[in-house]
Amino acid sequence: MYFDYIILGQGVSGTFLSYYLQKEGKTVLVIDDGEKYTASRIASGVINPVTGRRVVETWMINDIMPFALNAYQELEQQINVTLIQQCNILSFHSSLQMKQAFEHRLPEANKYLKIPAHEEALQDYFNFSLGVGETSPCYLADIQQLILGWRKKLAEKEALLEVKFDWKDALITNEGIRYHDITAKKIICCEGALGVSNPYFRSLPYAKNKGEVLIVEIPDLPRKNIYKQGLTIVPWKENLFWIGSPYEWNYSDTRPTAAFKIKTQLQLQQWLKLPYRIVDHWAAERPANTERRPFVGVHPLHASVGILNGMGTKGCSLAPYFANELTQSLMNHTPINPLADIRRFSKILM
Ligand SMILES: Cc1cc2nc3c(=O)[nH]c(=O)nc-3n(C[C@H](O)[C@H](O)[C@H](O)COP(=O)(O)OP(=O)(O)OC[C@H]3O[C@@H](n4cnc5c(N)ncnc54)[C@H](O)[C@@H]3O)c2cc1C
Repeated sequence: MYFDYIILGQGVSGTFLSYYLQKEGKTVLVIDDGEKYTASRIASGVINPVTGRRVVETWMINDIMPFALNAYQELEQQINVTLIQQCNILSFHSSLQMKQAFEHRLPEANKYLKIPAHEEALQDYFNFSLGVGETSPCYLADIQQLILGWRKKLAEKEALLEVKFDWKDALITNEGIRYHDITAKKIICCEGALGVSNPYFRSLPYAKNKGEVLIVEIPDLPRKNIYKQGLTIVPWKENLFWIGSPYEWNYSDTRPTAAFKIKTQLQLQQWLKLPYRIVDHWAAERPANTERRPFVGVHPLHASVGILNGMGTKGCSLAPYFANELTQSLMNHTPINPLADIRRFSKILM
């Protein structure tokens, strides 16, 4: 079986990359093991234009957010499911410094920050005393539906292989890749956190971290906003909410922990006035790196191996944009943003 491209991994990166390459008329085979607890499968899907304690604009957000909105809407047409909606963030200031940082940014970054119209009404649901800021517009992407719907589409086109890919069985030459009875011109690695053991890219400066999530029922909480105070409460499917998620750097395994569950319950006790019921608890690793910029492009030594990874905490917005940039680079030799281009690591990849 011959394909133009093998795409290794069908998280949000592999999903968008396979879409854009197919759109260019290329044949792809996506290899993904169907692992249940991956970053993409448990991500809340928030696209937030501001970041950090200093509430500054997220890197390249003025290009990346409109691109992402359009990309999810295009995929909606492909799989006939609503994938993206506007859902603004209400940030409950937890300290005077955070309140001041928000208010300080209001005049200069007022494009995304504002004071919410009916702050008092939130007193029915939450305990707070230092006020609330609103970030608008923010978007919420349904990554689970995206992956599920696109996977079905790939399977229909016989473009999906649900197995664990083993590098020991891959023969890589300058002309292409052979894997069992499959040959392709290139393999593009979209393995997320498992990319740390990819033999071609393992020297990249990965700095994975673990995130945990509680899925809860909160029957009386309005579903038109995302609520944030240390924890983030995000409307999830049906009548559920997604609550997460810390960045854990020291961990011995990727399973959910009792410590996270207890800590979250204690935080909710202080903050949320409404009754809730926990229905699920998940954990996964984020494919973060020390530079906080994606890894995009073709290996400087091995022309038949490429990468789209390193999406860190922001894959839901970064992946569509850089999947397209990589596709355009592969098709038309257009440049990749130098801050994302894998060739910035040429020295350590040689
Ligand atoms: C708790 C949590 C919450 C998050 N919330 C958000 C958010 O709100 N907004 C946001 O933008 N980002 C968020 N993120 C980050 C986001 O999820 C990631 O940046 C993004 O999902 C990375 O996608 P990816 O496709 O690069 O990797 P992954 O999602 O890890 O996908 C990689 C895929 O490759 C497969 N794979 C790997 N190796 C092999 C192999 N050898 N054989 C077969 N298959 C293989 C894996 O099984 C997996 O399906 C969150 C992450 C976590 C953990």
